[in-house]
Amino acid sequence: MTSPALDRRALSDFRALAGRIDGNGPRYTSYPTADRFHNGPDLSLYHDALDACRADAPAPLSLYLHIPFCENICYYCGCNKIITRDHGRSARYVSYLGREMALVAGRLGARRQVIQSHWGGGTPTFLNPDEMRRVMALLNTHFDLAGEGEHSIEIDPRRVDRDRMALLAELGFNRVSLGVQDFDAEVQQAIHRIQPFQETRAVVDAARALGFRSVSLDLIYGLPHQTAARFGRTIDQVLALRPDRLSVYSYAHLPHVFKPQRRIDEQALPPAGEKLDILVSTIERLTAEGYVYIGMDHFALPDDDLAVAQREGRLQRNFQGYSTHAGYDQVGLGISAIGAIAGRYVQNARTLDDYYGALDQGRLPLARGVAMTGDDHLRREIIGDLMCHGVLDLPAIEARHGIDFNEAFAAELAELERLAADGLVCREPGRLTVTPLGRLLVRRVAMVFDRYLRDDAAQPADNGVRAANDGTRPIRIVPRYSRVV
Ligand code: SF4
Repeated sequence: MTSPALDRRALSDFRALAGRIDGNGPRYTSYPTADRFHNGPDLSLYHDALDACRADAPAPLSLYLHIPFCENICYYCGCNKIITRDHGRSARYVSYLGREMALVAGRLGARRQVIQSHWGGGTPTFLNPDEMRRVMALLNTHFDLAGEGEHSIEIDPRRVDRDRMALLAELGFNRVSLGVQDFDAEVQQAIHRIQPFQETRAVVDAARALGFRSVSLDLIYGLPHQTAARFGRTIDQVLALRPDRLSVYSYAHLPHVFKPQRRIDEQALPPAGEKLDILVSTIERLTAEGYVYIGMDHFALPDDDLAVAQREGRLQRNFQGYSTHAGYDQVGLGISAIGAIAGRYVQNARTLDDYYGALDQGRLPLARGVAMTGDDHLRREIIGDLMCHGVLDLPAIEARHGIDFNEAFAAELAELERLAADGLVCREPGRLTVTPLGRLLVRRVAMVFDRYLRDDAAQPADNGVRAANDGTRPIRIVPRYSRVV
């Protein structure tokens, strides 16, 4: 099943509706979302997860590794990072990563195959070449990184040259994700991230020459001084690079939560209408240039694995967003990393002190987590189907979970009637389909099935922010940019 394509009418309806329907909300890289994890869970949660995963061998694993260090602060940043120029700090971090890997792998059993790995941050390329080799050697000691798998890394183009790109290829990475945000000089000045186009192009060219299978770029809209016309020029430059994948995230200005954002001039932020124009014109332009709208900020060329997986109904979601390999247990390594293992979510300590302290005591650095209930599994499947495939096959869900859908989701179906009236979803016998317009507001559709939000509805309103984390990034119920930067 493929999602219906976006068209001009959907974009025009979206423009008309956007002021009335808030399309923001959780990104559902997990369900329950990370803000529902419990603090200070018993370590048995993690141990039970790893033991259950061990019993599932030889199923391959997915792996996320977090490198938190950055040399400079970008003012828009909401990531869990540590700004430092002291490279001695990363040497220590690498040695503790090794300890963590030994604990996890020791419990999982002999060198489990890793079919998908991703290094995120922070800036993974903060590590010097020897440290990168050391981390990869540690990974290969404790796991079996499948040669045919997807192995990706986030790159700061300001910090890598051709030699470093060659090293990444030598280490087995076959996908790279580059933070760009915007090529406009004034915007770059305002966000404290000076990154000339030529610098980025050199890295993209090197990636192509070295045979990386996929190059992904990240952009952010809603930054200071951006207008639809100016961002259009950035899109021109991006299109000249022809990345395989593109992420276009919405900037959420939350200076009370993220201190670096206090250095952003609020007066220079584009008003809501302009921000919407930037988004709509970007979607129009990218789809006209042949990119497939995967959903939720993501675009891909038609022959990219993500677009192929979506056409073939294999697309899934995990902490990296959309994925072709989300069906596997995911191990998280490093501070704040989240694992999704055998029906449990586990998140590591967010600070170096807590992370090192736990490992010094020989225990896993677990800080938060949750064991999924049967209801969580059912709703995760529904939300995943909506976000990845845009359709619910109701008889199939009923058969898999032994439920009567109309009975189990009476309140949700009533709420969906309102979204159907707005043209976001379409009810047919045995099916619920997300329309092209609904794909642009799919979070809103998915939120209908979020039991935790539903339970919250009766609670007093907070400030709209959950002190929580989605992958390695904060999650909130207001607009946000997210994931790799
Ligand atoms: S945006 Fe990326 S590079 Fe910039 S401070 Fe945040 S994590 Fe570091």
